[in-house]
Amino acid sequence: MAYDFTTRRLFIEDGLSDGAEIPLSADQTNYLLNVLRLDAGAEILAFNGRDGEWRARIEKTGKKKAKLVAGEKTREQTPPSDLAYLFAPLKQARLDYMAQKAVEMGAGRLQPVITQFTQVRHVKVERIRSNAVEAAEQCGVLTIAQVAEPLPLAEAVEALEDDRVLVFCDEQHRGDAVAPLTELRGRKLAVLVGPEGGFSEVERSALAGRKSTVTISLGPRILRADTAAVAALAVVQAAAGDWSA
Ligand code: SAH
Repeated sequence: MAYDFTTRRLFIEDGLSDGAEIPLSADQTNYLLNVLRLDAGAEILAFNGRDGEWRARIEKTGKKKAKLVAGEKTREQTPPSDLAYLFAPLKQARLDYMAQKAVEMGAGRLQPVITQFTQVRHVKVERIRSNAVEAAEQCGVLTIAQVAEPLPLAEAVEALEDDRVLVFCDEQHRGDAVAPLTELRGRKLAVLVGPEGGFSEVERSALAGRKSTVTISLGPRILRADTAAVAALAVVQAAAGDWSA
């Protein structure tokens, strides 16, 4: 079935199957009826990360209560994206933006990393997750990206499988961004973007010492970290990821 770009998509936790009835929480009901101003009988698309995407009708069950009734399946469940995104956490609004954009760009796993010059150390993982859900609803990804607890940079890098190539976005590196990536098609990938303060020399040499690491430049200008996230994921997807398929 063709991809439906016009109907609202809602992530739910419950199972989805033909005729399944899904009670909505007060927040979900408020969102559908008051924020989106949908009426009883209106249809949305529902997904839960397991059962694909379903057309579902809103039915009122009380004054401020509603449920969804699942109708036909509109898309089969897609496998989660294997692309990992490692990033130094930023302050609230930029972090929200970065999490949403990383999901839109196809990251399947978001790993906050604490680096030497990271200023934000208290990370609200739940908030990153809500942004990942919102972005998935928005862009039609059917699996919610995993959001991991923050780790010190060295531990996060150590935890990567040996054969996962780490694309290290280094603000001090100069050279062609795309050329080193075109050889990585089909490989497991992780992308690393640093904090507003950049990377330290100690971190640079530790990263350079890891076997499967490719250092790239994102051009001659210093990008803010949230811009770098989108730029890095775009070149990686275009040269070696699902834009190049
Ligand atoms: N304060 C640093 C900039 C950090 S920018 C300085 O002035 O040098 C935040 C992060 O975005 C960087 O750590 C890097 O991962 C990424 N980034 C920004 N601009 C980049 C560029 N031109 N090339 C590669 N990575 C870049």
